[in-house]
Amino acid sequence: MHIHEYQAKTLFNQFDIQTPKGVLISTVEQSSEACSELGGSVWVVKAQVHAGGRGKGGGVILCRSMAEVESASEKLLGLQLVTPQTDAKGLPVSQLLIEAGQNIERELYLGLLIDRQTQKITVLASVEGGMDIEKVASETPDKIIKFGVDPLGSLSVQDCTLVAEKLGLNADLTQQFNTTLLGLYEIFTQKDVSLIEINPLIVTTENQLLALDGKIDFDDNALYRHEDIAKLRDISQEDKKEQLASEHQLNYISLNGTIGCMVNGAGLAMATMDLIEHFGGSPANFLDVGGGTTANRVAKAFELIQTEANVKGILVNIFGGIVRCDLIAQGILQAIETVGLTLPIVVRLEGTNAPEGLNLLDKSEFNIHVESDLTKAAIKIVTLTKETSE
Ligand code: GDP
Ligand code: MN
Repeated sequence: MHIHEYQAKTLFNQFDIQTPKGVLISTVEQSSEACSELGGSVWVVKAQVHAGGRGKGGGVILCRSMAEVESASEKLLGLQLVTPQTDAKGLPVSQLLIEAGQNIERELYLGLLIDRQTQKITVLASVEGGMDIEKVASETPDKIIKFGVDPLGSLSVQDCTLVAEKLGLNADLTQQFNTTLLGLYEIFTQKDVSLIEINPLIVTTENQLLALDGKIDFDDNALYRHEDIAKLRDISQEDKKEQLASEHQLNYISLNGTIGCMVNGAGLAMATMDLIEHFGGSPANFLDVGGGTTANRVAKAFELIQTEANVKGILVNIFGGIVRCDLIAQGILQAIETVGLTLPIVVRLEGTNAPEGLNLLDKSEFNIHVESDLTKAAIKIVTLTKETSE
């Protein structure tokens, strides 16, 4: 799960990581009050969306008067912001973070993630932080400092000092840096984080170390034990289809092809997609309906697949290990009726009570082709969808 920058910064503050002062607004009218509250004469207006690259996409605007803050707010609120990290549609902006402008001397990068190769929580740091960190990482990877934390121990002040030294920080900044890095590590481990990042971590002309931006991704599988974090979810930032899917415990990913897939088990879903490709078709989605499939979930799955713009036919591939194929068949028939599905469907059932299941589908009045062989089923759906597009 992703959260907004302002939410990340609130969490930062709880763990003693310093940030610029900021006020969150959701209407243009609130902008001048926010400026007065913050004081000073320079403000930064920042669009709150679940994507980086806002600086490059026009979502971060430096303002030198209240009037400028007001017009920046007017421009951003209600916008679909497109950045190098969003799709062409962009993400809706309904909140802005107004911050006191900072005098930046240096922009550093600091982050923590799990390095799967070394199997350690790893600190990443660089003196070349800011908007081009991806370029730094790919073109001059030696400019990225890496430090793996001992999985049996924890991050020590000495470890932090070592990183600070490599960043070339003086004694005063090193102290601030240690607090910052220890705070990040605490958040990472306490809240089941998968990625936490400050980019840029700035050194101001007043010799202060501040988190100017904040990004935190949480492990969805651990959210059940962090009620405070789960509450931060903003579904307006999430893909509508994937949102509906997760509400019904379906693993769903939209793709560009023409053949909708409904499969139980992620591995079987991948194999099914490979076969479709092998016979010259292309999948419209990845969908794993899971083990304990119910008629209701099958209906939701059909509903999702039908919303894909390009879909011309559906391949259902279910292996009845735990669930019985005749029950699945009943579920499919019920779902077709509920959803009002008219697309051609090929159903491959294998496993417990497969013949009974296939027989049920075969006898039905709907446009269903049944197969017990997966290869034949894949060829059939590719042929059917080619016919409809001609
Ligand atoms: P991102 O592009 O989505 O990562 O958004 P950031 O929050 O990182 O902001 C992008 C850039 O805006 C930063 O790298 C800074 O260079 C600049 N910026 C943000 N806040 C301030 C500020 O208070 N003062 C100045 N001078 N620049 C800022
Ligand atoms: Mn940033």
